[in-house]
Amino acid sequence: MSAASNLLKQHLQQRRLQGVTHIPLRPEALEKLSGLGRKPVVREMPETPKSIAVESAPEVRQILDNPPPETKKADLIEVVGDTIEEKLAALRAMAENWEPARSMNSLRQTMVFAVGDPHAKLMFVGEAPGAEEEKLREPFVGPAGQKLTAIIKAMGLDRPQVYISNICKFRPAMDNQGSGNRKPTAEEMRACLPFVLTEIDLIQPQVIVALGATAAEGLGIPGSVGGLRGRFHSTSGIPTMVTYHPSYLLREEKMGDGIRAKRQVWEDMLKVMEKLGLPISAKQRGYFLAK
Ligand code: URA
Repeated sequence: MSAASNLLKQHLQQRRLQGVTHIPLRPEALEKLSGLGRKPVVREMPETPKSIAVESAPEVRQILDNPPPETKKADLIEVVGDTIEEKLAALRAMAENWEPARSMNSLRQTMVFAVGDPHAKLMFVGEAPGAEEEKLREPFVGPAGQKLTAIIKAMGLDRPQVYISNICKFRPAMDNQGSGNRKPTAEEMRACLPFVLTEIDLIQPQVIVALGATAAEGLGIPGSVGGLRGRFHSTSGIPTMVTYHPSYLLREEKMGDGIRAKRQVWEDMLKVMEKLGLPISAKQRGYFLAK
């Protein structure tokens, strides 16, 4: 087997571990692959690109025309400490006075870092703190946070067993703010991104869940949640599931199809549980089946 074939095999194995089963290819790439020996399984997809079953692919990475998007290479922040806890504490202290964020003048003053187990296997990433989070200086403690806590419980976990963070560490400011919140801009997320990437680097969770399209975009996974959810992407090599933000669930419950949205999030969480090797009861599998 050539070095290129070996490279590709490794790449495909890694992608399979991330839960990817199909890779879109242009017809020219498919033609090259067919010349390499084992015939790929080809299926027509709804759009033009064809997909190849990873199981049967003996090809080289160079001819994949859609390599996985790499996470943006924002520099990690160097922190000193003997333990992860000490390093996270040092990182939190740096976030307090982070000049790139503070000098933008579009973010509020109170820094809200993260909460949870520094040794967690599962990490949730949201977009930015809101009014409640700013008051308590803890992510996801308002209505969306209660929804997230319920999801974590449904997975058979307790909130302190996971790690919960946000891309943006400050509440985005608005005119006449009151209790109003807005999404962070791409620039605001970029200013804080080194923190969440360093948290990921220190914690090394087995799975990341990006809550909503804004968080996914911040992690370098652009697109709509509808198009991204249901399969694993990668953040610094860590399998990353994108799912709906808990605020979306709350909105859908009030004025949309709350059950559909909940079912979709639950399907995504079942995949996360499988990836983590968590036990899944028949009751958990069956949530929403009868609805
Ligand atoms: N929404 C988020 O994305 N993060 C929070 O911390 C709270 C609400």
